[in-house]
Amino acid sequence: MSTDNRIEIAIIGSGLIGTLLALGLLSIPNPTTDSNPTTLRMKVYEQSATTHELGAGIGFTTCARKCMTLMDARIAECVARVATHNGEAEDPDYCMRFVDGFRTYTGGDCWGTSKGGEGGGVDVRGIGGDRYPDRFEDNNNNRGGEDEGNGVHVSGKVYKLYAGPRGFEGCHRGQFLDEVMKLMPEGVVEYNKRVEGYEYLPSGRIQLRFSDGGRVECDLVLACDGIKSLIRTHLYPETKPQYTHQFAFRGLVPMSTAISKLGRYRALRQHMHCGPRAHVLHFPIAKQQLMNVVAFVQDPNDWTQSGMTAPARKSEVVDAFREWGPFVRAVIDLLPEELDKWAVFDTYDSPVPKYADGSVALVGDAAHASSPHHGAGAGMGVEDALALVTAIRRAREDVDRGVEVNGALEAAVRAYSRVRYERSQWLVRSSREVGWTYEWMDESIGADMDRAFADIKERSHRVWYFNVDAMVAEVERQYRWCLWN
Ligand SMILES: Cc1cc2nc3c(=O)[nH]c(=O)nc-3n(C[C@H](O)[C@H](O)[C@H](O)COP(=O)(O)OP(=O)(O)OC[C@H]3O[C@@H](n4cnc5c(N)ncnc54)[C@H](O)[C@@H]3O)c2cc1C
Repeated sequence: MSTDNRIEIAIIGSGLIGTLLALGLLSIPNPTTDSNPTTLRMKVYEQSATTHELGAGIGFTTCARKCMTLMDARIAECVARVATHNGEAEDPDYCMRFVDGFRTYTGGDCWGTSKGGEGGGVDVRGIGGDRYPDRFEDNNNNRGGEDEGNGVHVSGKVYKLYAGPRGFEGCHRGQFLDEVMKLMPEGVVEYNKRVEGYEYLPSGRIQLRFSDGGRVECDLVLACDGIKSLIRTHLYPETKPQYTHQFAFRGLVPMSTAISKLGRYRALRQHMHCGPRAHVLHFPIAKQQLMNVVAFVQDPNDWTQSGMTAPARKSEVVDAFREWGPFVRAVIDLLPEELDKWAVFDTYDSPVPKYADGSVALVGDAAHASSPHHGAGAGMGVEDALALVTAIRRAREDVDRGVEVNGALEAAVRAYSRVRYERSQWLVRSSREVGWTYEWMDESIGADMDRAFADIKERSHRVWYFNVDAMVAEVERQYRWCLWN
């Protein structure tokens, strides 16, 4: 601790998680009664020249938004400001939709070739029936919409999964981060500061080394340095994110064009189109002005690019989905000629053994990078952030009461690791596995969409219906245990 009773915390990385964690820690109130209270001082060190996020869409789960509110209600308000309702702006639709994107249904349970029939001759069986209780939300007024006459129709059953109030809303990443950065006090984030390593000093404090030759001392390091985390490599050199042999084409389509081709109801609502060894997701972003399209394909090759993204051409996507049903081909046809493709990496094959070591903790993707198939990787990081804020708040109070600072901080990050490890590692595994379900690669489910939906629903509920209050209580309990053991 510095001589003026400050606990100095260094956050590495101002991606989504480093930024939200910093705001959460800044919201911990400092005591007003004590004459010389222990205070927290935060610094975020970011290697880039600015805080930036790619212009792609991201969705936050209901429990991620609750975690934001518990850290600082203004963060969740930022989501609300930039988020785009699924469905009509004045009549949001809280359901996610899963459909067979490959086969064309001609009635009953049978299916035929996907070739031909685009825009006409495709019998839509709609979403009637009562086999899937989640298919309708209460007071759902939109059930007939899938049959809306204009544009290409979705074929076969539409499996609707209620995602909770405002449970699925796309945000533009850059817009969200811009809003959030307005809450960040001047001077907290230091840019062009690439951390290259760290050492413990005899005092028990940590010295960070930067690529510009600079050094700083701190009491606690929270590594939010993403999937390629330098700190994770330093702690656990044998762990390395792996290419999942899957990449995603990503493109944005003007919503007016999407509506004219797909029909208003379908274009404005998130749909996940499942099929053999690939799947396509689309949802509205930018206040319904754009449709975000993500088309995942399996890749037998290694990823040889130095970065995680590479330019792609529309013809590659058209080729990959040539055999698919008319609706998916119509979505692909909307994509611009120039696209990006994103390699999907995760830590499925080499998980770290724990998230805390001494006074250093891994947070967000640095700890548990998952494939994006649950749309919850950042949400997990937000849950991590709340757990850390809870534990560090208790540690600060204890230091004020005379507990030794290193002991209190180490207990805080150990408690965080113990509480967060199982759930976040499960997400890494389940994201991969639910991706196999979408792509009919799970041998026990195959192309059976009824069974696929049951699997998707069970996994999604485990992501969404998480008891955040119980997590907070458990962090407090574990912190006490770690302090005395
Ligand atoms: C295609 C795709 C779609 C996704 N969709 C969703 C979704 O809908 N919902 C969801 O919840 N999640 C989603 N995710 C996951 C989500 O994007 C990540 O979990 C999240 O962005 C991770 O944030 P982070 O802050 O941990 O890491 P990052 O965003 O990678 O940030 C790391 C930061 O650390 C900095 N840094 C790295 N090394 C150093 C260093 N040595 N020194 C200083 N700074 C450093 C970097 O410059 C960067 O700013 C998706 C992921 C992908 C790939």
